[in-house]
Amino acid sequence: MLTTKSAGNAYDVALENFDAAADALQLDNDTREMIKYPERVLTVTVPVRMDDGHIRRFEAYRVQHSSVRGPAKGGIRYHPQVTLDEVKALATWMTWKCAVVNIPFGGAKGGITCDPKHMSLGELERMTRRYTSAILPLIGPEQDIPAPDVYTNSQTMAWIMDTYSMTKGYPIPGVVTGKPISLGGSLGRNEATGRGVFYTIQSACDHLLMSLKGATVVVQGFGNAGSIAAQLLYEAGAKVIAVSDSTGCVYNPHGLDIHNLMHLKALTGKVAGFPEAESIRPEELLALECDVLIPAALENTIHAENAGAVRARIIAEAANGPLTPAADRILEAKGVFIIPDILCNAGGVTVSYFEWVQDEQHLFWEAQDVYNRLERVMKTSFRDVLKIHEERPAPMRLAANMLGVGRVAEAVKLRGIYP
Ligand code: NAD
Repeated sequence: MLTTKSAGNAYDVALENFDAAADALQLDNDTREMIKYPERVLTVTVPVRMDDGHIRRFEAYRVQHSSVRGPAKGGIRYHPQVTLDEVKALATWMTWKCAVVNIPFGGAKGGITCDPKHMSLGELERMTRRYTSAILPLIGPEQDIPAPDVYTNSQTMAWIMDTYSMTKGYPIPGVVTGKPISLGGSLGRNEATGRGVFYTIQSACDHLLMSLKGATVVVQGFGNAGSIAAQLLYEAGAKVIAVSDSTGCVYNPHGLDIHNLMHLKALTGKVAGFPEAESIRPEELLALECDVLIPAALENTIHAENAGAVRARIIAEAANGPLTPAADRILEAKGVFIIPDILCNAGGVTVSYFEWVQDEQHLFWEAQDVYNRLERVMKTSFRDVLKIHEERPAPMRLAANMLGVGRVAEAVKLRGIYP
């Protein structure tokens, strides 16, 4: 497997981002104490009977960072490198993200330290159901609503929804989002993150007076978020010159046929071996000259050691936390326009919100309706962040954090402290 992350601790980065925004907003200490740290942190042991008959124990987490603006909301990640600090960081970012796009949710995240690529479907189902029962007291449509993240998908959500509903005794589709359509999922949810990334790149190009047609694009991580963003950019006339996943990197300076590449990935689970492309190393991919670089894998993939080599005009953070603060400073100094994660990839949680609304109302929308509403939310949020970026002036990440943290601070001040 390719090396994904530097040794950086994502939670330290999340706290550093918060402090910078709180300082810029001149938040008082009481408000900082109320909103900075997770409200609830749960660690559970998940024993699973494996296919060979023995029992294996997995460590798993659910963190609710904030319920100030609404029920906690956030995905569930299955990955060998999941740690409690990573989940805390991701939960924290969810809080600011939901506030940036102004949807009535707080932030949460879950994760299981496991290697799903080496587990059977049966093992994954048993692990998911046992994990669901372990976090059951925390989740619910009005409390905390999980969704897919890295190496979890709509099938995972179907198992969670079923386990939760069986325990309560009646179907409760609103307990998760990112479900299959036939179980109360929303049209457009599967591609929502990549579509949102695409809309923010369109906005950035408009702002920088760049044409998307013919723009060169590099994508690190060809999963749900990365592949859909690549597909929409390709269909809009951009030239996607390089793409990677955990198995390798493919490069063609004349542009890759993204439809064919998606087909290969669906068939083999890999981008490696794609014809009409050469294989390059991960560090070469990040250093390619391009108009738009989309990190869409895991956090901390661009850091102090490799940021200097980046030659992109725009970085669109489809992944959560792909840049370390040191990388941020280097790229900022180089004049790279960064679309920060809590804005760039907020399309996923936005359509999750639409899904939850549809479930609550038992009334479902057409795909085009979802896309139109999503485009409106993403482009309005981009404008809101850009306004702070230009007026203050502040780097885009600080501007996004100021918007998100500021909205949560306002809500907590209005609610006051209980008791
Ligand atoms: P996914 O599991 O669908 O895809 C992850 C992809 O990254 C896979 O193709 C994998 O092969 C690749 N990858 C892993 N390690 C890599 C490496 N070292 N180099 C290159 N590629 C590598 O996951 P996803 O849902 O697309 O999530 C990707 C990122 O987007 C994560 O940071 C996630 O938190 C973020 N995100 C996802 C959503 C969503 O709705 N799915 C929403 C917001 C943010």
